[in-house]
Amino acid sequence: MSDAPSYGFDTLQIHAGARPDPATGARQTPIYQTTAYVFRDADHAAALFNLQEVGYIYSRLTNPTVAVLQERIATLEGGVGAVCCSSGHAAQIMALFPLMAPGRNVVVSTRLYGGTVTQMSQTIKRFGWSAKFVDFDDLGALEAAIDEDTRAVFCESVANPGGYITDLDAVSAVADKAGLPLIVDNTSATPYLCRPIEHGATLVVHSTTKYLTGNGTVTGGCIVDSGKFDWAASGKFPSLSEPEPAYHGLKFAETFGPLAFTFHGIAVGLRDLGMTMNPQGAHYTLMGIETLSLRMERHVANAVKVAKWLEQDERVDFVTYAGLESSPYYERVSRICPKGAGGLFTFALKGGYEACVKFVNALDIFSHVANLGDTRSLVIHSASTTHRQLTAEQQEAAGAGPNMVRISIGIEDADDLIADLDQALAKASA
Ligand SMILES: *Cc1c(COP(=O)(O)O)cnc(C)c1O
Repeated sequence: MSDAPSYGFDTLQIHAGARPDPATGARQTPIYQTTAYVFRDADHAAALFNLQEVGYIYSRLTNPTVAVLQERIATLEGGVGAVCCSSGHAAQIMALFPLMAPGRNVVVSTRLYGGTVTQMSQTIKRFGWSAKFVDFDDLGALEAAIDEDTRAVFCESVANPGGYITDLDAVSAVADKAGLPLIVDNTSATPYLCRPIEHGATLVVHSTTKYLTGNGTVTGGCIVDSGKFDWAASGKFPSLSEPEPAYHGLKFAETFGPLAFTFHGIAVGLRDLGMTMNPQGAHYTLMGIETLSLRMERHVANAVKVAKWLEQDERVDFVTYAGLESSPYYERVSRICPKGAGGLFTFALKGGYEACVKFVNALDIFSHVANLGDTRSLVIHSASTTHRQLTAEQQEAAGAGPNMVRISIGIEDADDLIADLDQALAKASA
């Protein structure tokens, strides 16, 4: 498809980045199941290796199927480029990698996916990096946490495990003032519901494992660059602004301008970290993205119905869905994610931990899994599973206390979902 930013979302989710296969005319994007690509001649090979010409060398770095997906997600997010990788967690490391160095820190929201809390609080220490956890509703605390060694600010748009929406406009203003890039994990919202770049995000990361693929088949991740950050301005980001010894002293920011982060992600990130997405995985995600808007509309409509039903049920203590008028974040929905607050939320059972465990066991349609963003409805008791490694305070801060159940509402009949919840609640409170 020719570059036409005026096309609507529904058109772009099917066409952006794709064109009929030049060799065969195949209409659907082929799965280029190949590791390497034949060089035209030795000069062509040299130009590719010097980054003087863009092309395919080896599928750890680039692959034509993956490239279509990269362009598709970049377009839907309103970014200039994107790099796909093997998982959402890989995307987070790949986003931080060019920015960080031993002794540097990232300021992160307390409201994060459980695995991200562990990655940021524990694992990145092995690289000599650290994370400072802050309540992003307290903008003063956010500003105060930023110091000389801070290299990025990180949060989720609609935060896992649901019910919270980050005020991206306010947070990006703080990051801007400090001259730092804002990285937003947009997994739970998807670009259909929220476009973080329009609210000041520098980079958007995704677990494509979730709604973008949409049917629970493959893991994947993506980093989208807004192209708006000046990496050379402060001298704080030498990987992007200073000569790169492994490419004859090339400076990414100078040579690639707004595409510097994307080229660095491929030419250094994927080359040396090797967290590559495979073409089969990209194929499944491309299939999923074609129906993203249709699915998200249904996820939201079902979530609103189910959340309203749960909210009035006497066995339920409270429901944290930002799409409910009772939510303290209801105002942010119309501003940050105007098409809805997503399909993910938590609710508290009056019976506490024991009732949650019985409830999860009694459900029929809902599957008890550590996943979200599937066509089918999913449930998890976070405190005994995904958030098990966290301290009680971390669990509370993440909205995953012992009395909380998280549900990812699928696109089934809402009435069937409600009936299933009803019978399981009856068993849980018996
Ligand atoms: C699942 C998830 C991740 C991690 O993604 P993986 O693909 O499982 O590595 C990160 N952030 C959020 C919000 C997620 O839901």
